[in-house]
Amino acid sequence: MPAIKKRRVQEENLVATPAKPSEPLDNSDQSPEPEQEDQSQAEKRPKSFSELGVIESLCDACTELGYKAPTPIQEQCIPVALQGRDLIGLAETGSGKTAAFVLPILQNLMENPQSLHSLILAPTRELAQQIAQAVEALGSLISVRCTLLIGGVDMISQSVALGKKPHVVVATPGRLLDHLENTRGFSLRQLKYLVLDEADRLLDLDFGPILDKLLKILPKRTTYLFSATMSSKVESLQRASLSNPVRVSVSDKGQTASTLLQSYLFLPHKYKDIYLIHLLNDRAGQTAIIFTRTVNETQRVSILLRNLGFSAIPIHGQLSQSARLASLNKFRSKSRNLLIATDVAARGLDIPSVDLVINYDLPQDSKTYIHRVGRTARAGRSGHAFSFVTQYDVEVWLRIEEALNKKLDEEKISKEEAMVFAERVSEAQRAAALEMRDFNEKKGSALRKKGGKRGRDNMDEDEG
Ligand code: AMP
Repeated sequence: MPAIKKRRVQEENLVATPAKPSEPLDNSDQSPEPEQEDQSQAEKRPKSFSELGVIESLCDACTELGYKAPTPIQEQCIPVALQGRDLIGLAETGSGKTAAFVLPILQNLMENPQSLHSLILAPTRELAQQIAQAVEALGSLISVRCTLLIGGVDMISQSVALGKKPHVVVATPGRLLDHLENTRGFSLRQLKYLVLDEADRLLDLDFGPILDKLLKILPKRTTYLFSATMSSKVESLQRASLSNPVRVSVSDKGQTASTLLQSYLFLPHKYKDIYLIHLLNDRAGQTAIIFTRTVNETQRVSILLRNLGFSAIPIHGQLSQSARLASLNKFRSKSRNLLIATDVAARGLDIPSVDLVINYDLPQDSKTYIHRVGRTARAGRSGHAFSFVTQYDVEVWLRIEEALNKKLDEEKISKEEAMVFAERVSEAQRAAALEMRDFNEKKGSALRKKGGKRGRDNMDEDEG
């Protein structure tokens, strides 16, 4: 095996490189329309990260992570970013967008080493954590120091980490502002790169006013804005934060990956649990995310599955932050192969190699459907999405098919075969109902204790 050369970001050079000539932060009046990337350039498909201009130590890190070739968003973003341009990336989680912005940032850091070189903002704690992991993994061969600033975690340990002068900070906006206001010695005056990841969601979660405040105090820097959708709110954020950006798009709105098989099961509402068990039994050992509509159902289905001997774990917004992270980690490490989720898990979470997505409850709109099924068949892998359609869901299902612009195949399951599980399922349902009573009692008392409105610190907490 070829030896991997380990290079370090030069500690002795932790001095700011001279700032570029200053430009107003709000360039809304003068920023020309974003350039579209040259088509012919996009069509020449480079085969490797090094052909995109990525330096050897970062190419080695990609190889270590099993990235054989750049994904389309990486192919399009990296060369433009390496030229120092501001960037708008229209891409979703699953496209490889994180490495598309992290690699150029780390390359610049290697060339111009300094502390507090870059700031990456994300809407939720889980996403911020995933990005920090990606920074650490891609920067592992160059010893990058990365600090994560998110709500729900002790401020003091984060302040101590900031005192160690990280190169990269990954944060949710509320907690970052808290540190800027309260942590002595912490400032972003030398910042060279800002990333606004999932900008549409940052704005949906009402982080707009905090972002405005931050943009006023940040120096001139290179900015990348990534978003799954381009709403008018995102456009005004783009005008306020980017300078003469290049726009790169791989988001195929309303479309799903070609490696994704999609089908539906038409079944009576009262047999949903039985059909679920039949389906999972047929596909024993595969990894699956099972989406339900409510926190209660998520909890109930996961108890039911456990009672039947499946390795299931729930994730929803009413679990504590540490419980949610523990669920995700168990699922990622494959110590549990079934994740039962509300739509909290449908966006943003990087869960590699999911074999199946099961819509136990149908989503109410096609956008959520696409986000959910996008958890499988990622980065060229194959995957299968099953949707349960009951007598009550026909209208919603037809709307989803219409938005997808195709009729999906029906997965025929023989009723006799499914009914083999009826008796065991009904026993497990009774046991689950009892456990749910306990869960709801605990939840009621926790809610009474909590009371009050969501403050700045827990705005980055997903709901649902
Ligand atoms: P992201 O869209 O950044 O959340 O990435 C989705 C998943 O794709 C993550 O698990 C990445 O580790 C993985 N990934 C990113 N780039 C590549 C690549 N070039 N080849 C294979 N997998 C990748």
